[in-house]
Amino acid sequence: MKDYSSLAQSVRQNGYFIDGQWHDGSGRERLERVSPGHGVAVSSVALCTAQDVDLAVAAARRAFEDVWGDTPGAERGRILIKAAEGIRARLDEMAYWETLETGKPISQSKAEITGAADHYEAAAGMARMITGETHNSYGEGMLGLVTKQPIGVVGLITPWNFPFIVLAERLPFILAAGCSVVLKPSEMTSTTSLIFAEILAGAGLPRGVYNVVTGTGPVVGEAMSNHLDIDMISFTGSTAVGERVLTASKSNLKKVGLELGGKNPQIVFADANLDDAADGVAFGLCFNAGQCCVSGSRLIVEASVAESFKAKLLEKLSRVKIGDPLDPDTQMGAIVTPQHFKKIMSYVERGQAEGACLDRGGEAVSPSGGEFIVPTVFSGVSRDMAIAREEIFGPVVTVQTFETAAEAIEIALDTEYGLAASVWSKNIDTALGVIRKMRAGRCWVNTTIVGGPEQPMGGFKRSGTGRECGMMGVEEYMETKSIHIALGDREHWVA
Ligand code: NAD
Repeated sequence: MKDYSSLAQSVRQNGYFIDGQWHDGSGRERLERVSPGHGVAVSSVALCTAQDVDLAVAAARRAFEDVWGDTPGAERGRILIKAAEGIRARLDEMAYWETLETGKPISQSKAEITGAADHYEAAAGMARMITGETHNSYGEGMLGLVTKQPIGVVGLITPWNFPFIVLAERLPFILAAGCSVVLKPSEMTSTTSLIFAEILAGAGLPRGVYNVVTGTGPVVGEAMSNHLDIDMISFTGSTAVGERVLTASKSNLKKVGLELGGKNPQIVFADANLDDAADGVAFGLCFNAGQCCVSGSRLIVEASVAESFKAKLLEKLSRVKIGDPLDPDTQMGAIVTPQHFKKIMSYVERGQAEGACLDRGGEAVSPSGGEFIVPTVFSGVSRDMAIAREEIFGPVVTVQTFETAAEAIEIALDTEYGLAASVWSKNIDTALGVIRKMRAGRCWVNTTIVGGPEQPMGGFKRSGTGRECGMMGVEEYMETKSIHIALGDREHWVA
């Protein structure tokens, strides 16, 4: 095996960023990040305190009140365009850190960083297209206006699995709306969010608009969720932690946006292009090693083609390149932490104990020092099994079969989650008929896990509330104000 110790000789000591100033983190405890793909320490972050959150919120409040909330949309847009240019200019560096901290393949990191730049460009145009309503039908004496204004200071809490693209699905829309931000990235993957502070400063974003407070959820995240001067929390992460954030947000009844977990169906009909579908299901299972909120973790396939389809899927999976995440040819990378590796493996054991048939996978490999799991397929799965119900968040797919479209819909909807769903069929009535019945925020027909900044995303049921991206993703961070304007002289109440 290659020697990865040189990664360790350059452990990056991250500071944190408040009110346009870097703090080196002295006096704070630190957390070291081990590269999941290589098993060596690569970076460390300062574990900030609730007092640091107070300072960041105060800076964000000042920036919002004094500058950013009233900056014209055109100017906000220009800064977002420069931010996109800054991201593209540092693509290789950012992708490198994304791969070292998450364990994902470098080709995927590059695509995500480039995709992030795209989001800043899209939001730049939206910044100058914020509109409202007029009501001109009250008669001569009254005109009505509905205006939108930025909600204020937004607390943003992000997960480890897509650090920079999840940020990009929220931050440019928040900035386009005119809000200021206190960000707490995952303590495991803070580096790209911190590099971005430099890029935004270079793009001309006024100080205090983007603040990054690093640290743990129970300290920094909890302090933000409770904070009396944060107007909205946008949380992306697990459903269990989302519930905690919602409870804490009661302190000042702040608005809460939640983007949470999923247990997403891939419904394959016999009349689909089965080769395309097998490729899509393989991708939906292996993308980010299954550590993906919209991972296609439940295959629901028409019984008449179930065996032949499974054979195609297993053949595809046997050719997925698992390897060093820094190798440009690698398609599937590492599992994020040893604890999470154990959790996934415990589901593999549980599936077998529950009587499901392990068709392939379920074993660990270590091509470059970290912990990786081979794509895993369980068939003979019934709806009550834990592997069919709980978010495993790893490269594990369950196979269930159906006879009719109605049965496929029933199985697909039998989950507490509602994040995403894919349908594979060449019959337009079947495909659209089924997709219309899905209770999920992101749906795909004859494809999976694609999309850009134009369309909104979010969850039904326990997958969350609110929407990110698109114009809806800008309006999510705005308050609506109704104004009635009397025209002409008043008819007096006291005559
Ligand atoms: P997580 O819930 O463990 O952590 C998410 C963030 O919350 C981290 O920054 C963490 O430090 C913070 N946090 C932890 N405890 C907290 C607390 N008490 N108060 C406030 N913040 C706290 O999730 P994760 O392991 O980082 O990410 C995986 C989960 O995220 C999966 O469930 C996945 O489905 C979900 N996810 C959802 C989306 C989406 O768009 N719906 C996108 C990516 C990930």
